[in-house]
Amino acid sequence: MAKKRMAKAKAVNYILIPQDGEIGQPRYERLFAIVDAHHEDLSKTNARIALAWQLGLKPDVDGRLVLGRCRKATDLDRELAPFDFVILLNRDFWQNAKVTNEQRNALLDHELCHAAVAYDTDGDLKRDDRGRYVFRVRKHDLEEFRDVVARHGLYKNDLVDFERALRLANLKTDVWVGYTKLHEALKTIGVSSITREVIATWSDDERREVMTWAVLRQDAADGRTADVISLSQTVPACLAAALGMSTSGADTPAANAH
Ligand SMILES: [Zn+2]
Repeated sequence: MAKKRMAKAKAVNYILIPQDGEIGQPRYERLFAIVDAHHEDLSKTNARIALAWQLGLKPDVDGRLVLGRCRKATDLDRELAPFDFVILLNRDFWQNAKVTNEQRNALLDHELCHAAVAYDTDGDLKRDDRGRYVFRVRKHDLEEFRDVVARHGLYKNDLVDFERALRLANLKTDVWVGYTKLHEALKTIGVSSITREVIATWSDDERREVMTWAVLRQDAADGRTADVISLSQTVPACLAAALGMSTSGADTPAANAH
């Protein structure tokens, strides 16, 4: 009898993850590490972020499964509990043995990107009439269909921006940008005064950064991506220094030439 009543009990699909304790501690540590590394606004406003499991999620009709969600606390929520955002994590996904920590970090980073701080028209942090910071939910940078991109290419700026981010991500995973390869890449975009000896003084990260910049400039010169020029004007600091430019990120003469 008791068993039958249990079977009929309504499922509860949310479980708050407390900050302390075995389950909560490592998750919040991961969350706060990402806030400190990449979300300065949330860090400086001490945004209070709760984590909760969401259970029972099923893929939609197109096979898409929600992995996480970021909800901003309403003014009434803030009366009831001390938090500004709650990040809901799909528990089945999070606890799946095939999911890597890198994927978990990316998911938290994604949800944190939705958690934004509001600014007023003067560019100051916005506050409510109790002096608390005001938050907002930021939308995705890109909303698009694969098929449309396959048929029409990078037809608008947000796609171009995204393609650039993908390139950077790919380059990040490259272990080594060779001196000669970078030297050649710079020559093809008209920067010929940088010797291999100078390149050899740059760190791996700096060479990768310059290579990324050069690749993007090359694309712009080829006319493959119409709007890349406006996105890639910031010359990497090490290259600017080698060219004797100020490091404020202005256009190089070489960059203008293309
Ligand atoms: Zn999202």
